[in-house]
Parts: sequence; structure tokens; C-alpha cells
Amino acid sequence: MKTESGSIFTERQVKIERLVLTKLRGFCAGVVRAIDIVEKALEVCGRPVYVRHEIIHNRYVVDELRAKGAIFVEDFADVPEGVWMIYSAHGVSPQVREEARAKKFKVIDATCPLVTKVHLEAIQLAKEGYTIILIGHGDHVETIGTMGEAPEHIRVVGDAEAAETVEVPDPTKVAYLTQTTLSLDDTAEIVQALKRRFPKLAVPKKDDICYATQNRQNAVKAIVPHIDVLLVLGAPNSSNSVRLKEVAQAKGSRSYLIERATDIRPEWLTSIKTLGLTASASCPEILVQEVVDYCKRNFGVAQVEEFETVEEDVKFSLPYELEKLIRDSR
Ligand code: SF4
Repeated sequence: MKTESGSIFTERQVKIERLVLTKLRGFCAGVVRAIDIVEKALEVCGRPVYVRHEIIHNRYVVDELRAKGAIFVEDFADVPEGVWMIYSAHGVSPQVREEARAKKFKVIDATCPLVTKVHLEAIQLAKEGYTIILIGHGDHVETIGTMGEAPEHIRVVGDAEAAETVEVPDPTKVAYLTQTTLSLDDTAEIVQALKRRFPKLAVPKKDDICYATQNRQNAVKAIVPHIDVLLVLGAPNSSNSVRLKEVAQAKGSRSYLIERATDIRPEWLTSIKTLGLTASASCPEILVQEVVDYCKRNFGVAQVEEFETVEEDVKFSLPYELEKLIRDSR
């Protein structure tokens, strides 16, 4: 019999013994900072504050902030002059900054410091005359922002095939940078192809790799041998969420990306003993607990455990312009 969701199984037919969560999960320091910025800006600047693009790729978080008075926009066309404008954690291009200046916006920049670092490297490499291969997804908002720093110098490459064919004016003067939501593993094949084609390829510093992306993928790899199925809480438009699912699949685990507990389909979980759960860098803990409760209630989960890997203690400070507003408001 099919249920309303189209499932051929009902919750009652599924029984799971253990639910194992990666202890390292959810918000990274860049996301904590971005949300903090919007909330504090609402306090000190008043409602509304505008935000260019979703502050992070999570519908729940965006809806919460919208309810508090944030207005999310994809471009500035219909935004009145002179309003408070926050740039999302993904960063913006110089062209967007120019448009913001023309509209006299009062800007607060929530770009993650790790993304800013990639922008600054792109500017420096372009000044030194390098062609920069930017490894990333051409339609991702972060890549578009980085690309805008030196469009004539940057070529976006999304896979090894593109790395084999990308054209550059001087093969001895090539460098590469990566979208922050890709890990070392994601880029390995592409980098290999680039190194073969351009033996003098300039490589980014090791600490350019986003610690949060790498740690969350490592946690997934570590938990996979101990579970039957992995649920990844995140969003389909969140690059780091999709990658977590793919990492689990590449390690041989069945894995599903969900936004909320109600997305879970019982047929994914029939005849399994141990269910794994992780959350992407843009997913709030409240949604993790919602899934835990849902699994206890609907699938009779008897035991909930956490799987430890590394601990994180990274924190980013608020942008100077917001710190100053907070000080002045006291
Ligand atoms: S995933 Fe990394 S680069 Fe992206 S916001 Fe978080 S810390 Fe910054």
C-alpha cells in the first residue's frame, strides 16, 4: 500500500536499533558569523536590513531571519537607495560593490574570511600576470564573486575534462585556486591534470583549504563503515551538503540529502540496523534534533550515539563596521 508521500512502506514497518550522529556537524565559523551579523545588524540598524543573496544556503535559517526583518534580494534593481545592505557569506564581486556604492547603501560585509582570502589571492596573482584556474562550479555564487575580481585572468574549471582542455595564454604562468566548499579530495583529479599540463603550476598555500569543508567530509568518511545508511541534513542548493552525500556514496554507503525530518522516506530504511546522521556547515542544530526525535518516534530508535572525529574551535570576529555600530549604539 502506498502512503500519502508515495512511500510503499509506513513508518511502523521500519525499526532501527541505533542512530549514530557525527559529533562534528553543522555550523562552521563562517556561518555562525554570517547569521550573527544579520541578527546584530537588525538590533542596531533597525528593520529592515537587506541581504544580498541568501545569507547562507539554508531555508530554515533564511525564513527565521526574514521573520525578524531581513529582506533577501538577488540584485539591487528594486532596492531603495541608502538602505543597510549585508553581503552574504559567499562574497560578492567588485561589480556588485560598485553597484552598492552607486545606490549609496550602508554596507556590512558578511563574506566569510576564508572566501575573502581567496579573493585577495586572485587579485595578487592577477597583478603578477598569472592566469588563474579557479576550480569550482561556474554557477555558484562564491565562484561568480571570486571570478569578478579579475575576470580577464580567471578561467573556471569544474572537472578533470575541462582541466585537460582549458586554454591559457602562457602555460608557464598558471596558478590555481579553489572554491572553498571543495575539499582536497574533490580537487585532486583536476589538480593532477593541471600539473601534468602546466608543470610550473603555482599552487595555493595549504591553509587556503576550508577547514570546515575538509573536517565534515572526513567525519563522513570515518562514520561510513559503522552505519548502513547516512542521512545528510542540508539543502540541495548547498554545495557542501551535496558533497557530503557524494562522499558517503563514493565510500559505498547509501546516502540521502534531506532538508527536514519529514523528507525521510521509510523505504530508504527498511532492513537496516544502524542509521547515520550528519549535517552540513549551513544546517542548524535544531534541525538535527528534529530528525533525532522523528527517528525515535517513528522508527523506534533505541540508542542514539555520537561518533567522534576532530574538534573545532575556530571563531571569526565580526566585521569592523558592525563592531563600530554596536559600540556607538551603547
Ligand atoms: S564552509 Fe568554510 S568557507 Fe564556507 S562559510 Fe564555512 S568556514 Fe567559511
